[in-house]
Amino acid sequence: MQRITVLGATGSIGVSTLDVVARHPGRYSVYALSAHSRVEELAAQCVQFRPARAVVGTAAAADRLAALLRAAGVKTEVEWGEQALCSIASAAETDSVMAAIVGAAGLAPTLAAARAGKKVLLANKEALVMSGQLFMDAVHASGAVLLPIDSEHNAIFQSMPQFGGKMPEVRDASAGIAKILLTASGGPFLTRDVATLDAVTPEQACKHPNWSMGRKISVDSATMMNKGLEVIEAHWLFGAPADRIEVVIHPQSVIHSMVSYTDGSVLAQLGNPDMRTPIAHALAYPERIASGVAQLDLTQMAGLHFHQPDFERFPCLQLAFDALRAGGTAPALLNAANEVAVQAFLDLKIGFRQIDRVIAHVVDTLPHGDAHSIEAVMAQDAAARAAAEACVAGLAK
Ligand code: NDP
Ligand code: MG
Repeated sequence: MQRITVLGATGSIGVSTLDVVARHPGRYSVYALSAHSRVEELAAQCVQFRPARAVVGTAAAADRLAALLRAAGVKTEVEWGEQALCSIASAAETDSVMAAIVGAAGLAPTLAAARAGKKVLLANKEALVMSGQLFMDAVHASGAVLLPIDSEHNAIFQSMPQFGGKMPEVRDASAGIAKILLTASGGPFLTRDVATLDAVTPEQACKHPNWSMGRKISVDSATMMNKGLEVIEAHWLFGAPADRIEVVIHPQSVIHSMVSYTDGSVLAQLGNPDMRTPIAHALAYPERIASGVAQLDLTQMAGLHFHQPDFERFPCLQLAFDALRAGGTAPALLNAANEVAVQAFLDLKIGFRQIDRVIAHVVDTLPHGDAHSIEAVMAQDAAARAAAEACVAGLAK
């Protein structure tokens, strides 16, 4: 029986994770669940999965959750705050941690799971983008098993079977890897007239053609910052220099990414666009379990298409490559500025095309330094948020 903590249980990835877990009651048990403010949804999950512990964002939310659980006769212990998140991520009673909190808020608990040597199922790419070297160092020091949930990175991992569960180093010549080919759907605005992008609404930006996801990552997909963050994520997971990671637009999202080898072979992983596939893969690794995802029927496909990304249409993609090449805390600045800009767009304070302007302003004006400690990373995160908020306020006038 594998005991699991799901951080961000009420989100898109959290719900998909529990859907897979519920299909295999003899195989997985839920040790702990977390949410931020969606208390009713978390209460319903506690009724169904009976975790020992549940964590929410505030004392008020904890009181409401405790009342709901008392009324339902559920004995889950209710806690709140970052310390409690770190505790359910590192407790001796849990084997695996699904890291599915969105944004920088997930860094501390995800790192706690890595330091505690857990099997870490990583959806929260922002945590790795912010603290790449520190995070990978923690994984190596503790012997944690890191498995990618992001569909592209899960596909890349599956396309490197010769490594038998160890993350390969692309820069290691003996791996024989020429390039990582990171596929991208291009999001909802792939072909839309660029002149009209200023007028798009959050609803339009969140309407992804292939995937159903939380609002922040949906906007990231529309700007292609999501792909930019994934380039940085691939750099850390697979030891891949920036010039060995190529973004390929593939609007159908059937091939989830590829690895190109020096002998001319290209290995790919295919499947319907449903996150339950990478989640089931990582949960059961190295075995395979049913995920609830329909089998792929290639005869029903009109065609699979590929082309290069347009960096002028998607300036965020270029900003991310630049941050990766700059190194140090540049990716942390990029990530924090992006989180603020996306929230400002969702709150109707700035337009869609101003998201990349806010990020560029922050990474161009703030000095970046060494990402040698979590404190240094968090200080840069805070400085970038303040600079981004000021920039948003200026644009919103
Ligand atoms: P959602 O917005 O759907 O869910 C986010 C989860 O995090 C919710 O449980 C939410 O709680 C919780 N949360 C939000 N803010 C905080 C906070 N400040 N402190 C603690 N918990 C918080 O996001 P997704 O599930 O879409 O994405 C989660 C992560 O997975 C992201 O990093 C994303 O990039 C990554 N990912 C997602 C994919 C997808 O298909 N959705 C694909 C690949 C990666 P509450 O519900 O109470 O607000
Ligand atoms: Mg992805």
